[in-house]
Amino acid sequence: MITRFAPSLTGYLHLGHVLHMLYVWGVARRFDARVLCRIEDHDRSRARPEYETAVFQTLEWLGFIPDLGIISADEKPSDFRQSDNAGYYQSVLEELQRRGLVYGCGCTRKQIAETQPDGAEELCYSGTCAEKGLPLEGHTVRFRTPAKETVFEDLKLGKQCQLPWLQCGDFSLRDRQGQWTYQFACVCDDIRHGVDLVIRGEDILFSTARQIQLFQTLEAAPPRHYHHPLIYDAAGTKLSKRQRSESITQLRESGIAPEAVIGRALREAGLSPTDTPVTAEQAIHKYII
Ligand SMILES: [Zn+2]
Repeated sequence: MITRFAPSLTGYLHLGHVLHMLYVWGVARRFDARVLCRIEDHDRSRARPEYETAVFQTLEWLGFIPDLGIISADEKPSDFRQSDNAGYYQSVLEELQRRGLVYGCGCTRKQIAETQPDGAEELCYSGTCAEKGLPLEGHTVRFRTPAKETVFEDLKLGKQCQLPWLQCGDFSLRDRQGQWTYQFACVCDDIRHGVDLVIRGEDILFSTARQIQLFQTLEAAPPRHYHHPLIYDAAGTKLSKRQRSESITQLRESGIAPEAVIGRALREAGLSPTDTPVTAEQAIHKYII
């Protein structure tokens, strides 16, 4: 099996990513899978070269060694860096277009928001532009979401049932500025890279069926999924780089040992009662496998 560590380049890695690495490498070990590293910089407005350099420094410093994929920011171009592969995403999009499975949408986020019922958790697009025949260029490109439920067996959380057409409707594959979306670029890459085990945070469990439907539409077998717990702060909020300035790069530069950082991630995740320093290898064996 092949799984992947695929950070998005929207900031420096933080303690939540360390927990994610422990799960990726640990669950991979359990299933005898190889770990592929991929750089998800599809959002060109936020990606910065220093974030990419920091990913490789952080992995090496903490002791997480990928088996496949990209291992250095000097690999240019790479099949494993999304910004180097726009032509590939375009070819997949054109296949969907030939099959009549995508359309251009001219609605703004504000217009869609105005049609939502009170208390809606997520914007659900009702298909206003589905039959307008707008060009894809210069418009949001939407996927005709099948009107069916998707059932899958999560390796951690068990049976899941999701209905994307009721949750989000026809979701977007590319925005009007021409930027590929996470859902689309990620599925295209997982197919091309032969990824058959996806390990990701439980915060994005709700959107997994969208990716499964894209896999099925592209006639590829969907991967197995394992959604792991996250680190939450005292208020129950997910630890994220936006809320927390402390990056692993900063911790490393402050002189703290990598084992201490891994120990802290384990304690903050509730996996260990103390933040006793441990190596990645020890942590994987003791807390993940
Ligand atoms: Zn529209």
